[in-house]
Amino acid sequence: MPLDYNSLLTAFVLSGCGLAITFFVSWLVSRTERFLIAWKIGVSFMALGVLAYSWYGKTMSPALGAAGYTILLTGLAFVFGAGREFRTGVLPWRGMVIIAVTSSTAMAVPMLAGYNGASIVVLNIAAAVILLVTAWDYWLGRAEARLAITLLTALYVVTGLSFVPCAVVLLYAGEWHLSQIPSNWAEDLNIVVCLTTLAGIGALSLALNQARLARGHKRDAETDPLTGLLNRRALLSRIAEGIEGPAALVIFDLDHFKIINDVHGHLAGDEVLRTFGEILGQSCRSQYLAARLGGEEFALMVPGASPVTATLLADVVRMRLAKRRFTGNGGSFNSTVSAGVSCSGEGAINFETLLRDADNALYAAKRNGRDRVAVRSGKTEFSPHIRSLQDGQRRPNDLVRLKTG
Ligand code: GH3
Ligand code: MG
Ligand code: MG
Repeated sequence: MPLDYNSLLTAFVLSGCGLAITFFVSWLVSRTERFLIAWKIGVSFMALGVLAYSWYGKTMSPALGAAGYTILLTGLAFVFGAGREFRTGVLPWRGMVIIAVTSSTAMAVPMLAGYNGASIVVLNIAAAVILLVTAWDYWLGRAEARLAITLLTALYVVTGLSFVPCAVVLLYAGEWHLSQIPSNWAEDLNIVVCLTTLAGIGALSLALNQARLARGHKRDAETDPLTGLLNRRALLSRIAEGIEGPAALVIFDLDHFKIINDVHGHLAGDEVLRTFGEILGQSCRSQYLAARLGGEEFALMVPGASPVTATLLADVVRMRLAKRRFTGNGGSFNSTVSAGVSCSGEGAINFETLLRDADNALYAAKRNGRDRVAVRSGKTEFSPHIRSLQDGQRRPNDLVRLKTG
């Protein structure tokens, strides 16, 4: 069913309003993604601008034309801002104001001077440039969701390019004073393309937003909020996902932590936990897994490590904590940690066995005076010669058999 140009403009206004409402409701449901608000404002302004443009077609009043196009260009500046905010998390207010003011001024001056043809050429070129810059912004952020963002970029490019023939046709005809709004194949093509891509851009933007929310929820569910490390569930699922042996597991347990809480207060206790999480995170390479198992217990999974390497690593962590000073209700204090190390052989990791062995070694470290690292190797527990290591006599293979009875 063929539709006339004005019906297509009305359809654009209505679908723009529908999308703006959908975006607003999506934002109400989850307010973290603020780019939805910029997009909603952009689309609302564009719908309002197109409405004003259709009135302009009836009255040909320069003031109405300039106002309608200004609203449209401001809407496009918001769409650009939404794209940048989606990628960087920051709304580029300054850039948006520059885009809206310069493009509106360049369009309004000829319009108010009676050269509405020139004004419409400027409008079309400005719209094309703003949409192509927006497309570029999305393209830069394509790593987040390659297929969806590539499609979104393509839709912005197609929309931007559809404004170019409108300017070219007017320029070619050299019509600077128009007695009615331009009506030609380029204008028809432009409104049909905008109507089609608007729905696609809206749907893709919402889908990207949902994907981001889902990723955020997954991250929250896997992260310990106090230390930012993985939690126990996340550690287990990462191990199950495909870490193969040999690997070492180190379990850390802060010493006399209850006393720290009792004497210095819970806030000071939390600060110790946070600092320890930081030390553990900083001691990790990218393939290691550091997690807070719960309370004042932490785990470090070290793929490919021998008992000696894992023990030395655990001891570095231990020493780094011992050097830190904290302040609490009872004055200045320091905190120590004990660690138990266990190792798996080749092949799939049996986390339960590894954890039990590391726990046994940890209890041995606690029994033997705390502030030390113990290793469970086979059926025997060993403790490295920690004091020698501290004294600078680095003898990593010097393991001392512990009293296990
Ligand atoms: P040990 O040297 O034998 O490990 O003694 P401990 O006092 O460290 O061990 P215990 O299991 O008796 O106490 C652990 C304490 O950790 C008790 C609990 O209140 C405290 N705790 C657990 N989670 C948190 C937390 O998130 N913040 C604070 N401040 N304390 C916590
Ligand atoms: Mg404990
Ligand atoms: Mg403890």
